[in-house]
Amino acid sequence: MSYNIAIDGPAGAGKSTIAKAVAKELGFIYVDTGAMYRAMALYLIRKGILPEDTKEMEKACEQADISIVYQEGSQQVLLNGENVTGLLRQEEVGNMASVSSANGRIREKLVELQRQLAARENVVMDGRDIGTCVLPGADVKVYLTASAHTRALRRCRELEEKGIPCVLEEIERDINERDERDMTREISPLKRAEDAVLVDSSDMGIQEVKEAIIRLYREKAGK
Ligand code: C5P
Repeated sequence: MSYNIAIDGPAGAGKSTIAKAVAKELGFIYVDTGAMYRAMALYLIRKGILPEDTKEMEKACEQADISIVYQEGSQQVLLNGENVTGLLRQEEVGNMASVSSANGRIREKLVELQRQLAARENVVMDGRDIGTCVLPGADVKVYLTASAHTRALRRCRELEEKGIPCVLEEIERDINERDERDMTREISPLKRAEDAVLVDSSDMGIQEVKEAIIRLYREKAGK
């Protein structure tokens, strides 16, 4: 049977950095579920569908085939066979994903894919609803968070390192709006699972958070 670690939390909490590092150390596969929602969002943007057009969104998503492959251990997202991994981190795509991910049909399709992966492989999976909905029986569940200001600062630094200019206040406002949408949507809202361990990384480094999660895993798995 496969071993599953679920990491949920709001935008910019450091989930992907931490999940990747934990997966590498344990020899597990890292599954970035946000990238799947982003690939779907990219498809909708390309089709010219507006975020408020729920009906068109539902129809269009049936034509989007999203799959995951691994190249040298790194997750690649295929959209109807095209590798779109490099296009997914744009703000426009993230903002659309934050709206379109509230759609029930889109969630149904992507959750199915996520469960299939977790049933086959040992995974560290990050997202918003992994511990509460996708893998309620996950062996280790972590709810990773940090203050909105800290998360905005981290995101700004990340963008600046890539040479993309950014305004801290705008990023913080985007983060707050995304949190609000993710936490208040009807289907699978972002919330801490009852049995998830809360980790606030506002004053913690990457190494410290990684070690805390690996300790949890070793305690649970008796390794
Ligand atoms: O984590 P990331 O920013 O890449 O996710 C993009 C968007 O996808 C989020 O704003 C969230 O609305 C949505 N998402 C989700 N459920 C997940 C992962 C991401 O609703 N499991």
